[in-house]
Amino acid sequence: MDIIKYREDAESFLYKVDKEYYLHFSGQKDSINISGIYDEYKYLFSRKNIEYIKNIRDKSAGEEKKKAAYLLKFCTEGYIEGQVKDLIDKIAEDEAQAKINIEGRKVPFRYSEILLANEPDKVKRDRIEDKRSKKIAESFNDTLYTYWDTLHRQAVDLGFSSYSELFSYLKEEDFYSLQAEMERLLNETQDLYEKHFTGLLERELGILLKDSRRSDFAFVKRAKKYDRFFKKDSLIPIFTGTLFEMGIDISRYGNIHLDVEERENKSPRAFCCTPKVPEEIYLVIMPGGGQDDYEAMLHEGGHSLHFGSTSSKLDFEYRYLGDNALTEGYAFCMEQLMQNRQWLVDFLKMSPDEAREFVYFSNLIKLWFCRRYAGKLKYELILHDDKPVNGKESSYKEILSAVNLMEYTRENYLKDVDDGFYCTNYIRAWIFQSQLKEYIYRKFGYNWYKKKKTGFFLREFWSYGQKYSASEVLSQLDFKRLDISYLINSLIDEIRSF
Ligand SMILES: [Zn+2]
Repeated sequence: MDIIKYREDAESFLYKVDKEYYLHFSGQKDSINISGIYDEYKYLFSRKNIEYIKNIRDKSAGEEKKKAAYLLKFCTEGYIEGQVKDLIDKIAEDEAQAKINIEGRKVPFRYSEILLANEPDKVKRDRIEDKRSKKIAESFNDTLYTYWDTLHRQAVDLGFSSYSELFSYLKEEDFYSLQAEMERLLNETQDLYEKHFTGLLERELGILLKDSRRSDFAFVKRAKKYDRFFKKDSLIPIFTGTLFEMGIDISRYGNIHLDVEERENKSPRAFCCTPKVPEEIYLVIMPGGGQDDYEAMLHEGGHSLHFGSTSSKLDFEYRYLGDNALTEGYAFCMEQLMQNRQWLVDFLKMSPDEAREFVYFSNLIKLWFCRRYAGKLKYELILHDDKPVNGKESSYKEILSAVNLMEYTRENYLKDVDDGFYCTNYIRAWIFQSQLKEYIYRKFGYNWYKKKKTGFFLREFWSYGQKYSASEVLSQLDFKRLDISYLINSLIDEIRSF
């Protein structure tokens, strides 16, 4: 095996895959042909290559070992995903074509998520959610079942007891100890969450937390009452204006393409695609205005800046692979502006009182998400254990409903799951970001976003791509390790101080 050629081909494989995802999810191409790309690059993902790369990893040290570990994950993931390549296309296409009937109107399934978040009438909201669940059960779950079942079998075939053990090995993470830390977050925020979320739902929706469903959260998060601050037309200027203050002129980043065009089948969820790092990065958003739109823009903008600023001189492994908790952490770092009172006053023209109230709201939403991901990890460890997928619907519903104290529907048990335990990247990123925030406040102040020095600092760290893991970056900033106390304390302090 020629490792240099392997890297080059892997890079061109990722280019094609990412470009295909970009075109499909930005609504420019109805079909999606990931399986064709897998066929073209089939030779990259063989058992022989897995063994070869594993051998390099085991016999080398330092950077070579690290790069081989990143490559081993890429090759193994590619190998098992290659076995479900046709299902990957089918899942995306079925979802893109699916329609549901809402009040006599046929609505694209993906778009119904937007309708749900904008529907003020609880009865109608419940009805939309029920229709979505029915569609998932009738049209998606059989394929999803085969998808997960096949991946689970592949993990066993590779010599692991389960999919969960395989990914713990590839990511070099102890999922159970992370879960134990998240249990701590759940316990320490339980009363606070219950009290403040009860208040929020009563005030905004006039319903009790115990009567609420996950779809009610979509409406709470949409938070129309703040729309007057988060105008659709100001989204891009505020984003670019903020960066400008930090000395970052995104219009001069010829490599970051802002795709803000409205298209019918464009994913309502903002996303970032990175076909070529750092030369070709897409920041895709369907602007509608509203606080959640701004939050998504800042988050995806964080990814785009990270990969768009990555040094082109770095090896393939450091530009494309590695610890995704890092890029999620940089995305959260930009997103946290939504919880910065001063930024809201400076850029969104809120009064100090309005900003204080909004920051409280935004932290409550963040707490909801952290609790949700604690539940997701707990559930995914069950879904991906060594037992069959059958009958795990009830674990999904019970665990997720218990962490958010809102009813989740069981039909989502195979759909509300990201590949390869991606949930741990978000969890570790929240912890990373809360420590990075400590550092940034100490070094640059609460109004860090106005300092050219912060821009300089961030650009330097972004330029390393994903050469370093989240923990390694923290140790460069003099922290001992990823420490969940920072996240727990930050959430508790911000919510209590209101
Ligand atoms: Zn992200």
